[in-house]
Amino acid sequence: MVSHLRLAGAGTQTRKGSMDSQERQVAGVTVRIDRLLCVGFETCIEVAPDLFELDDEGIAVFRAETNGTAHEEVLGSCKSCPVDALEVHDESGTQLVP
Ligand code: SF4
Repeated sequence: MVSHLRLAGAGTQTRKGSMDSQERQVAGVTVRIDRLLCVGFETCIEVAPDLFELDDEGIAVFRAETNGTAHEEVLGSCKSCPVDALEVHDESGTQLVP
């Protein structure tokens, strides 16, 4: 059975039951989690606990509800990732993070 967290955002599923990436529109930007790069450091969650959480594999996923996350919180949390697993693009496609 696939958990509701894995259905919370668009993504690709290319290895045994795990999504390699998740993408979501949040606060006017597009955020992408590269789950192959994520090492579960949790700094993104410390900055934006309403946006990200760890799944049962210890890898970042979007929370089911992320509508209340502010733009600055999104950018700050994504910039905090030590392995650049979080990408942010604006509406024109310009990459803001990393
Ligand atoms: S800060 Fe980066 S490595 Fe750490 S949980 Fe978030 S996405 Fe994963």
